[in-house]
Amino acid sequence: SCDVVTFGEAMAMFIADHPGELHQVEHFTRALAGAETNVSIGLARLGYKMRWISKVGNDPFGTFIIESLRKEGVDVDMVLTDDRHPTGFQLKSKAESGDPQVHYFRKGSAASMLSADDVDPASFTSARHLHLTGIPLAVSASMRELAFEALRIMKQAGRTVSFDVNLRPPLWNSQAEMIEVVNSLACQADWVLPGIGEGKLLTGRSEPRDIAGFYLEQGVKLVAVKLGPEGAYYRTPTEEGFVEGFRVRAVDTVGAGDGFAVGLISGLLEGLTVRDAVRRGNAIGALAVTAAGDSEGLPTRPQLEAFISASCIHP
Ligand code: ATP
Repeated sequence: SCDVVTFGEAMAMFIADHPGELHQVEHFTRALAGAETNVSIGLARLGYKMRWISKVGNDPFGTFIIESLRKEGVDVDMVLTDDRHPTGFQLKSKAESGDPQVHYFRKGSAASMLSADDVDPASFTSARHLHLTGIPLAVSASMRELAFEALRIMKQAGRTVSFDVNLRPPLWNSQAEMIEVVNSLACQADWVLPGIGEGKLLTGRSEPRDIAGFYLEQGVKLVAVKLGPEGAYYRTPTEEGFVEGFRVRAVDTVGAGDGFAVGLISGLLEGLTVRDAVRRGNAIGALAVTAAGDSEGLPTRPQLEAFISASCIHP
């Protein structure tokens, strides 16, 4: 059994050692990329028993992914190896400011072949909580089916489900389809975590309060709208509020949302108030942007406690 289960695609990532256009970069540092693997690593560092389900190619990138997660204590026993399809990878520029440039080599990847037939329902129901992101919805029809199936299985078993919308417009055929599919999953989840820009696009509403309302009207129990360095807004059927972000020096903004999910999910599973769980989300989101890799900045529990007590922002 485990505490939290998730599934998705992981990739090898090559981060440029120096700023510049990707086609000109000569030296890269290898790292692990994947929203769901980031969340798995983050929760494992906080002491959770994590299971990550996926498919990798029978190649060095696949082995690298498995070994990296194993080192972090993430359960990878349900990860399958595909002999006919490769593990995806990506190149990421070193941004001097703002978001880095990312180029993917993921089409036809082993992970995209993952389907509901590959996964025993017990791999999900033996966990207390399911975390999903919008990425598998875009990657392939079979992964999309698995996402809806996992959600159905977990809801039927009375488990909680979190959903980080993680929009990836380039992976979709049309924006209308993206909005429809992502909203249809979001409306069935318990906790939904859109970024403000994503929330606007998905709901056609502009204020965090109204974006949250869109999902609450459909039965979602908590919506946390991420506001970048500003922090986050949250709303449930009975409470709402804004929680200010932590001030840090940003090195790489990718991975902040995954860090936020780690903080929010762990906080809620531990019975913190929604406000304190959102605050922990802000803290881990802030820590995530202080490191270059997507998961490097994710803290252990002592590191998290030290960071929160050292900051002078109090609720
Ligand atoms: P991502 O870029 O990973 O997709 P996102 O759009 O999902 O991120 P953001 O709002 O950028 O989410 O970040 C998530 C949370 O991380 C924010 O709510 C905030 O608490 C924290 N955060 C993000 N950027 C910063 C920053 N520069 N300084 C401090 N905290 C930050």
